[in-house]
Amino acid sequence: MTKHHTKFALETLAIHAGKQVDPATGAVVPPIHLTTTFERKLDGSYPDGYVYTRADNPNRRALEECLRVLEGGAACAAFSSGSAAAAALLRSFAPGDTVLVCSDLYHGVRNILINILQPWGLKPVFVDMTDMKAVEQAWTDSVKLLWLETPTNPMLNIYDISALADMAHAKGAQVAVDGTWTTPIVQRPLELGADFVMHATTKYLAGHSDVLGGAIIAKAESETFEQVRYIQQLEGAVPSPFDCFLVSRGISTLPYRMRAHSDNAMKVAKFLDDHPNVHTVHYPGLEHHPGHGIANKQMAMMGGMMSIQVSGGVEAATNVMNRVKLFHRATSLGGVESLLEHRRSVEGDLSTTPDDLLRVSIGLEHPDDLINDLAQALG
Ligand SMILES: *Cc1c(COP(=O)(O)O)cnc(C)c1O
Repeated sequence: MTKHHTKFALETLAIHAGKQVDPATGAVVPPIHLTTTFERKLDGSYPDGYVYTRADNPNRRALEECLRVLEGGAACAAFSSGSAAAAALLRSFAPGDTVLVCSDLYHGVRNILINILQPWGLKPVFVDMTDMKAVEQAWTDSVKLLWLETPTNPMLNIYDISALADMAHAKGAQVAVDGTWTTPIVQRPLELGADFVMHATTKYLAGHSDVLGGAIIAKAESETFEQVRYIQQLEGAVPSPFDCFLVSRGISTLPYRMRAHSDNAMKVAKFLDDHPNVHTVHYPGLEHHPGHGIANKQMAMMGGMMSIQVSGGVEAATNVMNRVKLFHRATSLGGVESLLEHRRSVEGDLSTTPDDLLRVSIGLEHPDDLINDLAQALG
């Protein structure tokens, strides 16, 4: 399926975009092309455009095309992890450029910015993006990029993508959104005005906690995206053909999984919100969440991630974590199995996360079983 993508719904695109019946065998499921190299024709040409797998491979091309179509972008580059994808995009800007970064975000990207890219010459400035005045005040002429995720990891802050994109574009900067927690099923940053979407395909896109991957999708071809491709092909932080196959297979069921993750999470959030031993539930689907209004405007559903703050401090939070029977005590998110983790101890020295906070990734088990497990663990 290569033409007329736009007339199909996301459920259909998730299954068909980028995929075609294998011309050599008729296989409906794409074969995994484990080759690193491709043969030239007698005239020296490469008619299919494949030369060497670091530069391109049929499984990677199929995955990139699927992601590009799902996000409604012009181009996509796949990476071996979400972190490699983020680093490639950030390094496509120049030493001396400033990037305005939301103050709550995935700790790995914060560490890449502070410990790797700042010494290289990029200047990260962290700002509370719920406050448009603060963003305006942090602006300088050297700002070339706004980097944000929404909902944020782990505080579930909600930022207004279209308002931030309008401000950035008026000042001649570009906008990148880390879409890992939402996927194109929940939130569509390019349609809201962003120039780039970054994904850790490791999480919901692949969906089964068994493969690492990342991607950058660009709204339009640009010098910046050319540089992303250049870094991808030259440095080779690329997903293997098998990795691409696994992510592509996972994406086939993404729209249905995201609906179920969101439905389950809403039920669990309501239960936790009423529980006397939980003093705060951070979930944008709850009406009292400060970002609820913007979330309703820019998200099709509320996703499967939330954080809770347990009454009684770090000791009580640890007790809850150690008493769960169905949830796994593990980092990461977006798989079919529900996970619970003490975020502060994962994030390391730069962490600003409260000590009584547990981050919850709601999986696809029956919601009653999840609620019963949390009820017994909370006592
Ligand atoms: C996991 C994650 C990343 C990093 O992805 P990796 O594949 O682990 O490198 C980036 N951003 C967010 C929001 C994530 O959850």
